[in-house]
Amino acid sequence: YYHNNTIIYLNGAFVKAAEATTDFYSQSLHYGYAVFEGIRSYQTASGETKIFKATEHYDRLRNSATALNMPYNWDTDELIEATYEVLSRNNLRNAYIRPVVYAPANMSFNPNTESYLLIAAWEMGLFLGEKLLRVMTSSFQRPNPKGFRIEAKASGHYVNSILASQEAKAKGFDEALLTDMNGYVAEGPGANVFYEKNGKLYTPATGNILPGITRATVIEICTELNIPVEERLFTTDELKQADAVFFCGTAAEVIGWQSLDDTVFPAKWENTLGRRIQLAYKNRVTEAVKGELID
Ligand code: PMP
Repeated sequence: YYHNNTIIYLNGAFVKAAEATTDFYSQSLHYGYAVFEGIRSYQTASGETKIFKATEHYDRLRNSATALNMPYNWDTDELIEATYEVLSRNNLRNAYIRPVVYAPANMSFNPNTESYLLIAAWEMGLFLGEKLLRVMTSSFQRPNPKGFRIEAKASGHYVNSILASQEAKAKGFDEALLTDMNGYVAEGPGANVFYEKNGKLYTPATGNILPGITRATVIEICTELNIPVEERLFTTDELKQADAVFFCGTAAEVIGWQSLDDTVFPAKWENTLGRRIQLAYKNRVTEAVKGELID
């Protein structure tokens, strides 16, 4: 993720990651009390590097911080500018960008009067996702929305993601699928899910999931391409009747599934709505026009 000369943005200054310091008594380190974002930049068709949906991501960062009662005094445009500066100082074009808002030294559960903010970035190329995923229904459920601010991208929630992902990989699968506290399909450890059945797409309604920015983009693409899409709750049994399934997220982009547990999905990925959306998504992030996909 970083080398000796990597620059991060830390509390208003551009500093070397290898020399930056943080507080060992931070409430974030001890209790997982922090919020973050996962953003991508792409080298677009015109050659210019652009951060995809930067405003949406920094607005969500603010909402996540607010949901956790963390002071947040940054302006979205200011942070976008700082992010472009991080990219340029590190010579990055296709990158993954990780802003984190975290707490100062505080060993109590009391609120803080300030927050810290860092922005790191590293190289991450456009991923064509040709290999379909073998997914396992996790034995871990997503955090109960009555116990967590599930709509916030909070660091502590990711202990659940790590457990689910590690369990799936230890059992020989590529990724996990988690249900909510009522047993309905929720999401992957770091991605939202859509399934296709008889020419229509379905995705879990919000409430028990992270409202993904890629999920919203997929819904926008469906509107553009006249693909019907419905947001509603469904079970894993229903999901196993699907013609095809895909995950979507900033890091994962749009990636098809081969199977869930023992069930192999019948449609050929090349012929699915997911594949059409995958191509449209790549065109969108790279600002290429249809038929000029760059990879
Ligand atoms: N669900 C979870 C739990 C995630 O961590 C992510 C990644 N941020 C997503 C869904 C997808 O969200 P986005 O499309 O905004 O990256």
